Amino acid sequence: MYAIAIHGGAGAVPRATLAPERERKYRAGLEAALDAGFAVLERGGTSLDAVTTAVRALEDHPSFNAGHGAALTRDGAAELDAAIMEGRQMRAGAVASVRHVRNPVELARRVMEKSRHVLLVGAGAEEFALEEKFVLVPNHYFRTAERLEQLESEQRGERVSDLVPPSAAHGTVGAVARDAHGDLAAATSTGGMTNKRPGRVGDSPIIGAGTYAKNGVCAVSATGHGEYFIRAVAAHHVCAAVEFRGLSLERAVHELLHEVLRKLGGDGGLIGLAHTGRIVMDFSTEGMFRGARDASGRREIAIY
Ligand code: ASP
Repeated sequence: MYAIAIHGGAGAVPRATLAPERERKYRAGLEAALDAGFAVLERGGTSLDAVTTAVRALEDHPSFNAGHGAALTRDGAAELDAAIMEGRQMRAGAVASVRHVRNPVELARRVMEKSRHVLLVGAGAEEFALEEKFVLVPNHYFRTAERLEQLESEQRGERVSDLVPPSAAHGTVGAVARDAHGDLAAATSTGGMTNKRPGRVGDSPIIGAGTYAKNGVCAVSATGHGEYFIRAVAAHHVCAAVEFRGLSLERAVHELLHEVLRKLGGDGGLIGLAHTGRIVMDFSTEGMFRGARDASGRREIAIY
């Protein structure tokens, strides 16, 4: 069965403060990305194309913390991370700390398909983007008034210490898909965390931490406090628990979020797709922007 699930980040999204107008925007953005990704699968396209399409749509949407509308560093710049992985040959590509690539997920994919490497960062990643004829954009393309406000309030609130986790809703985006051939894929893209130190890289572009896919096992995209997801090797933990300990995907995701990460003190959410096409979406935060659609007719968008 072909299927796709997406997320638009997990975090504190107090119902009382999520105005109906904003909630509509989030839902519309999720719906458009979900349907675009699903349409690829419906036409017989690959899971790789489906996750690329869905994540690109979320990167272009200003409400989510990826691409246009990304969270800002403490210097007010956007530094973007993204990764993609396919489950058949377990090929992967990722970029980190890029400042001028409009759709980092596409560059991550190009790294996977056209370079001998898995992860390119900063200036080297952008040099590769130029060679590959990507059109680069000025950094201010990513910056929205809302993110600037978020950064300023974070800085006013004395949350400037590296040791204090940011409180704001995260908003990273990701997708997992299974196509009609049974191939799995996962992709994740983010601006990271508000008020982060320049050069900080989160879990999203780290294969096995924020993103992972292996045919016959599962595909995973994570969101949350990245430092913890890196330390727990979160996405790989889930797939390894399924593959080597025989846990169901539900159980593996639950263990990771509510036992492993909780013990470390980290929170967030995760979407996973089992090799059967079964979708699991779970979180340890107040909410997670998410959507799921499959060939059996399921179509769902949810926040809480
Ligand atoms: N995991 C991302 C990071 O730490 C942030 C998020 O998911 O909101 O970079």
